[in-house]
Amino acid sequence: MPISDNYKGETAFLDLSEGFADEVKAANFPKTLLRFRNDRAAASVGLYELSDDEWIDHFGRFTPLPNTIQTPLAQRYHGHQFRNYNPDIGDGRGFLFAQMRDTQGRLMDLGTKGSGTTPYSRSGDGRLTLKGGVREIMASEMLNALGTYTSDTFSLIETGEQLVRGDEPSPTRSAVMVRLTHSHIRIGTFQRHAYFSDTERLNKLVEYCLKYYYDEMPFGSAADRALLFLERVMERVAEQAADLMAAGYVHGVLNTDNINITGEIFDFGPWRLLSHMDLNFTAAYFDEQGLYAFGRQADALHWNIYQLAGALADIAEEKALKEVLSAFPSQYFSALRTRLLRRLGVKEKGQKIDDAVLKLVNDYMITEKAPYERFFYDWYGGQLAETRFRKSPEEAKYLGDQYNDMRAALLSYDPVKPDFGDHQYFQAGRPCTLLIEEVEQIWAEIAHHDNWQLFHNKLSQINNMASALKAPSI
Ligand code: AMP
Ligand code: MG
Repeated sequence: MPISDNYKGETAFLDLSEGFADEVKAANFPKTLLRFRNDRAAASVGLYELSDDEWIDHFGRFTPLPNTIQTPLAQRYHGHQFRNYNPDIGDGRGFLFAQMRDTQGRLMDLGTKGSGTTPYSRSGDGRLTLKGGVREIMASEMLNALGTYTSDTFSLIETGEQLVRGDEPSPTRSAVMVRLTHSHIRIGTFQRHAYFSDTERLNKLVEYCLKYYYDEMPFGSAADRALLFLERVMERVAEQAADLMAAGYVHGVLNTDNINITGEIFDFGPWRLLSHMDLNFTAAYFDEQGLYAFGRQADALHWNIYQLAGALADIAEEKALKEVLSAFPSQYFSALRTRLLRRLGVKEKGQKIDDAVLKLVNDYMITEKAPYERFFYDWYGGQLAETRFRKSPEEAKYLGDQYNDMRAALLSYDPVKPDFGDHQYFQAGRPCTLLIEEVEQIWAEIAHHDNWQLFHNKLSQINNMASALKAPSI
């Protein structure tokens, strides 16, 4: 048995019983070519020891893992897409494949994307393009490296089919992906049960989530539990909003079916990382109103939390739910402060001072349309940034008289790690970025020459950045 003692299969989802998912079958793919295995993530759930053949057997042909779910489950959910309620969605090209404990004892899910049709596929083919899979790996690796709370792309296997897509040169190559995250339960999962006025399942789902994801044993009335649940989810979603902003990440489709109740960012579709600060930037070409523009993401997530509260209104008092909702902005700003200081690699000084400094930073970034990663790279480590920012192509701007206050304030901070400057990442003179032009270039090499070198090079650059930024927890 090649699976290690660290592998601890689970069947928690089966507690929910009937009404939450449909049993489905994985597609039978003509080919299974292993393109990416995430050994860091695999080690965290005891699956590092699998040979490549065994890996393909589990994550390309979906032979069940031991001691966990034995039949794939397409999850049932609804959701607001660009604010329109859609009761026809659900896992249309994915399923819950397995659950397990990670080495810290947390319950984790392995869910798929592109694994075949389900009762929720509508007119879709149930497939994922290889390009979509490659883009998701790059986004999740980069976000993890930047300290964002996000899902991991666990596996990508090319499947040898030809897909037709309106927004990609077609036919295009196919793949099946596996994602590792804490649950695939979404705000939309609650919305579905509320839509059918199914209070029994709503209650059950609240209890399940509190127990497995928030370590809360059943207590009080159903209404008390719903309120506690909303509070907990909102806290995580406020942190998620702050994570997006600190990373300069534009998610593109912040619909309620894409928001996980455990707060990780997942489902990377038309994402972009900002080249420079631009609050109005939108990632999805079809987002004509700018609903999910970079600077509107916190509002979008707050709106989504309102929809969760709405779904819980059948089991809790509206007035009490509304009271919980009012804390979102303060939670968001507090989470944002922590994350921006972490991005600057400095120690906190106190709420008021930090807020004032971060306002100067924000104003600078907007006025100067600052290159996003470059700014945090140049100023990383506060007082230790003096020599670095002076070598930056942005130096003349930083030295502008109107920025005296910002400069002085940033240089007055202590670094979180006094020795970080020795890391080769900070010697190199330029930050690791992941802009659309590079993503397209990496893909073009794969598409035209089946050359994966640029892709692997990028992943190792991202790893290098991750090791430089790995700050002690603050
Ligand atoms: P997404 O935009 O990926 O969050 O997906 C929204 C809904 O469309 C979900 O129900 C998906 O499962 C479904 N969907 C997206 N692409 C496909 C596809 N190629 N085949 C079947 N269902 C799909
Ligand atoms: Mg989705």
